[in-house]
Amino acid sequence: MSNNDKIIEDIAEGIENYPIRLLYQERSQVEELKRQHIKYVKHNVSLDSDFYYDGCDCADNCESSECGCKSTHGYFYTSQISGLDPKLFQSTFNRTIYECNSLCVCLNQCQNRLVQHGVALPLEIFRTSLCGWGVRVPLSHTNNSKEKDADDQIVIKKGQFVCEYAGEIIKTDEARRRWRSYKNDYGISDNYILCVREHIGKDRILRTNIDPTRIGNVGRYINHSCSPNLQMFLVRVNSLVPAAALFATREIRANEELSFDYSGQIGIGIEDAKLSDSNEEDNGSEKCIVRNRKPCFCGSENCHGYLPFDESL
Ligand SMILES: [Zn+2]
Ligand SMILES: [Zn+2]
Ligand SMILES: [Zn+2]
Repeated sequence: MSNNDKIIEDIAEGIENYPIRLLYQERSQVEELKRQHIKYVKHNVSLDSDFYYDGCDCADNCESSECGCKSTHGYFYTSQISGLDPKLFQSTFNRTIYECNSLCVCLNQCQNRLVQHGVALPLEIFRTSLCGWGVRVPLSHTNNSKEKDADDQIVIKKGQFVCEYAGEIIKTDEARRRWRSYKNDYGISDNYILCVREHIGKDRILRTNIDPTRIGNVGRYINHSCSPNLQMFLVRVNSLVPAAALFATREIRANEELSFDYSGQIGIGIEDAKLSDSNEEDNGSEKCIVRNRKPCFCGSENCHGYLPFDESL
């Protein structure tokens, strides 16, 4: 944070567990942001809230492997604090995570409830030099901020849940319509619509489109990188509509910019991902945020030069 930065203490206005601070230099930057991002939400907004499986009846915070939810859907988290099992980062195609839901007898401290609680860290939105808005965990929120090397402070551990990429759930036709109208009518050059295709069994594809442009959470301010420090996983809690949750793939230091690969892959581009999906047995998923063919400024060694582009819209 530099001296001429101005602060909005919490753009989420108290709905997250931690304040989402925003730093800016010019009033016009905030005005432009508020014209686009009109409403902050904690989770995806959608009419679908049908329960689709029974809950567990654990009395031990679902720590044991006997938990009905975990034994049915898989073992994803090591604990609420340490987050995702590191093994899950290694597969190219992510598995969908299932958390305990409102039919389960267990309580909020249950080890199988994480993403449903919302943002897990104090996050700060700031102006980057080349990529517009970006997100980081600021230094002032860490314990030893008086230390000289405080910038070296690790504020996020590998596997930790950071935040969702939350917005409106829309049909594909509507996603196409909005993408055009954002460009033409609003002059919004960044498009934030996330399209997720889940391969279920051999030939079923379930597609979910999340649009955080106007109604969304802090996730919409996280930039793309070709060498990201976050990875997106789909998480289901009470509904068939998944949450798109971001987890740290490595330790992250204070003031380090957070990023994920908009194509949903680490190290391979969206075209490669499409080719390789025929090898996938089941339950794989692809994700891509639709952007115009724009140059990427992530600066990493394996930068592809362009932001991922979804040709299906
Ligand atoms: Zn359980
Ligand atoms: Zn539980
Ligand atoms: Zn459960």
